Amino acid sequence: RAKADGRGTFRYFEPDMDAKMQARRVLELDLRKALLNGEFEVYYQPLINIAEDRVSCFEALLRWNHPLRGQLLPDDFISLAEEIGLISQIGAWVLRQAAMDAAEWLDDIRLAVNLSSAQFKGLGLVQDVVVALEASGLPASRLELEITETVMLHDTGNTLAILHKLRELGVRISMDDFGTGYSSLSYLRKFPFDKIKIDRSFIGDLPGGGDAVAIIKAISGLGASLGMTTTAEGVENWAQLDKLRLEGCTEVQGYLFSPARPASQLADLLSYALGSKGRGHMGPYRAV
Ligand code: C2E
Ligand code: MG
Ligand code: MG
Ligand code: MG
Repeated sequence: RAKADGRGTFRYFEPDMDAKMQARRVLELDLRKALLNGEFEVYYQPLINIAEDRVSCFEALLRWNHPLRGQLLPDDFISLAEEIGLISQIGAWVLRQAAMDAAEWLDDIRLAVNLSSAQFKGLGLVQDVVVALEASGLPASRLELEITETVMLHDTGNTLAILHKLRELGVRISMDDFGTGYSSLSYLRKFPFDKIKIDRSFIGDLPGGGDAVAIIKAISGLGASLGMTTTAEGVENWAQLDKLRLEGCTEVQGYLFSPARPASQLADLLSYALGSKGRGHMGPYRAV
């Protein structure tokens, strides 16, 4: 929108920038009150074990029900929460709420919770996890924590120690959005992850040409030989599922099965979690 003439350009942008900063300040003030006002809600998206044809896990995905702006997605507010130092508090709330919800599910369904790199700064994270498990009664073995490469990238020196402590509790650790960063491979050597989540940008290219398939094949094979399971994110159609099954991927997650939903709307997915054992087959959960 910048004007072509140099002289007017700066003045032209100024009010725009101002409005942006203003909007950000307003959002920041809202965010500081959101937790207290009970505006956060945890949604859940199922992960389906391909071989067993059943829901094996639900990933907790945070939503902010803003009183004026409607429902906001993590991309609208997580980085702001990180910048203003609120993410640890919010993250602790998510852990606790999600663990309480998950404690109501069947014994063999796990819960996955996303962590921000900022939660690794102090020593609070391990405590937050212990509190969430104790308050809910959820066994540690049913909790998976998802971290992205940024957690390893921003390592202040104790990230690995914290990850090992969490592992000692019996919690599983997943590498999220695998393949999007610069050093995904080297991080697999630094920490023995339990699960690799193949970023949805790779799945989106499926079934497509040979490259996409070759990459999925390589990651699944790598995971298997390192003793890690693999989950494909962003599965949106049957052709993708067929390819992923063929390449030995362990789990799939995506709109083909279900988007993230409120805790109160998981009943059909929870019964599907009982497994197919002679009935049905993967797929009653095409995008709702
Ligand atoms: P993520 O952990 O990689 O989660 C998967 C994201 O992909 C979710 O977006 C999900 O709704 C979306 N998705 C799932 N299936 C499909 C599909 O088939 N197609 C497409 N196009 N998208 C799909 P969402 O809920 O907006 O979350 C975005 C990111 O925000 C998450 O990415 C995660 O990194 C972060 N996040 C979510 N909840 C939390 C939280 O409680 N704490 C922290 N620190 N980060 C969170
Ligand atoms: Mg995730
Ligand atoms: Mg992801
Ligand atoms: Mg992501």
